Amino acid sequence: MDDFKIHILGCGSASPSERHLPACQAIEYRGRVMIIDCGEGAQLSIRRNHLKFTRITDIFISHLHGDHLLGLPGLLSTLALNDVGGKVTVHIFKEGAELIKHIISLVAHALTYELIFDILDPSGNQTLINDNALTVTSIRLNHTIPCVGFRFDEKPKLRHINGEMARHFGVPHYMMNSLREGHDYITADGEVIANSRLTTPPTPSYSYAYCSDTICDPGIVKNIHDVTLLYHEATYDAASAKLAFSRGHSTSVQAARIAAQANVQGLVIGHFSSKYPSTDPLVTEARTIFPNTIAANEGMTLTLGQQLILQ
Ligand SMILES: [Zn+2]
Repeated sequence: MDDFKIHILGCGSASPSERHLPACQAIEYRGRVMIIDCGEGAQLSIRRNHLKFTRITDIFISHLHGDHLLGLPGLLSTLALNDVGGKVTVHIFKEGAELIKHIISLVAHALTYELIFDILDPSGNQTLINDNALTVTSIRLNHTIPCVGFRFDEKPKLRHINGEMARHFGVPHYMMNSLREGHDYITADGEVIANSRLTTPPTPSYSYAYCSDTICDPGIVKNIHDVTLLYHEATYDAASAKLAFSRGHSTSVQAARIAAQANVQGLVIGHFSSKYPSTDPLVTEARTIFPNTIAANEGMTLTLGQQLILQ
């Protein structure tokens, strides 16, 4: 239930093709769903991946190119048709918020939920969510227009009680949270029982960084360092490096270099140009630099902490 899952809902670039939909992902975590980018086809992909509209709490829009944005008015309208209640927060640049507000005022008169706009700063480093379990921060990317990525970090978790040892030392029930937080136990006689004898280490905390769209920019490495999983755009192959740079995009080899420099555990590449009939050559090139690389694909679900490449 506490799994941190990433659903790939769209991983193409520019416009929908026969192979791929424009950019969209969903993070499923502790009962909530957070959408990252919202290209056309997002609603259909959300349904096909059996994600519930009622669980959507946040939508993050990296920039205002159509392939990351044009599914948003339809999704916000559908949320009202599905009687979604509570609050939905859209994290978006100011001009995008104004545009979406205008469209929604025309096409969806009675929202059933509170629609909140959280305005993004193009310089990044904003804390967008900071609750008991999770921190979400923005990362400045380097594209043809203002663009930010997003980093999701689970907070450190509590230690696990060793029930047998806790009973042995007669730890009262009300002290259990203190043990989970790492404190030692002091008996009625004043004896100090080390926490390490009464608990086992917590489940690891995982992290995810989403970087699309951007040229290869080593400036982002410090902001994505050590994440469990990195999604980095790889619109083109190595032979198209000049084209990639001129259009504000990266090659798969460049994405792999960024992953290696940032010491991430796994890399997912995406935002593929429709000119490639297969993503295999892009993955093969990336693996020469960073072996633990896979290509995103619609319908793929990744659980953080599980092996990326099963072989
Ligand atoms: Zn773009």
